[in-house]
Amino acid sequence: MGILEVKGVGKRFGGLQALGDVNLSVAENSVHAIIGPNGAGKSTLLNCLIGKLIPDTGSVTFEGQSVLGRTPYEICQMGISRVFQTPEIFTDLNVMENMLIPCFAKRDGAFAMNAIGSVTSQAEVQDKAMQMLEDMNLADKRHMLTGSMSRGDKRRLEIAMCLSQDPRLLLLDEPTAGMARADTNNTIDLLKQIKEERDITIAIIEHDMHVVFSLAERITVLAQGTPLVEDTPENIKGHPKVREAYLGE
Ligand code: ADP
Ligand code: MG
Repeated sequence: MGILEVKGVGKRFGGLQALGDVNLSVAENSVHAIIGPNGAGKSTLLNCLIGKLIPDTGSVTFEGQSVLGRTPYEICQMGISRVFQTPEIFTDLNVMENMLIPCFAKRDGAFAMNAIGSVTSQAEVQDKAMQMLEDMNLADKRHMLTGSMSRGDKRRLEIAMCLSQDPRLLLLDEPTAGMARADTNNTIDLLKQIKEERDITIAIIEHDMHVVFSLAERITVLAQGTPLVEDTPENIKGHPKVREAYLGE
């Protein structure tokens, strides 16, 4: 059984069946890519995994526990963190201030869950934030306002903010969208580094095939809300159904 199991998930928006009958199993410690044309339902699927949307049908379990009916905050506490298509950082705060927000949230969340436990001091939280920035090569930029950073650095910060929650599953929705090639390659290297250094599973939605084939061990192709095929990158490359969905052949 995978760390994430999606079974028979469907989601309708009015007259539009955005997801039909999605089955997906993400193996622990793998990098699993979900690809598909625009409008295929990739973001809708991700939103169903993190409590932003509730599917009409089916089940979603993480480490054997259902995520359905839980709030995004509770799902984050279960060990799932996500990075959205557009960066979600506070552009009028500097890098360190942004980093401190999830670090304090993690401490206060843990405190609320286990009120008898010892409270981590403010200094310890600040040390952790600094350590995360060092790990992500952002320490030198800690006083910089994030609004003036490159797209790649913003992404790096956002990923660092997610990792501060110590997730066991990291979900990314088109993390290189709108990036220049150099920033895209830096993001690929960063994700490889995270995979090597941490005990983590990565599920990535991506339309840039260079990114997909650089990272993924398994690929699920979604078209019109239904998985067309799931296979290794080698087999996906020449798959006739994939060529059809992408190239209209
Ligand atoms: P992808 O991420 O693969 O490009 P989406 O999941 O964003 O696709 O969208 C799948 C389909 O669902 C699209 O036709 C989109 O217009 C529609 N859709 C997505 N979100 C909503 C929503 N909140 N309300 C109505 N339709 C939506
Ligand atoms: Mg999308």
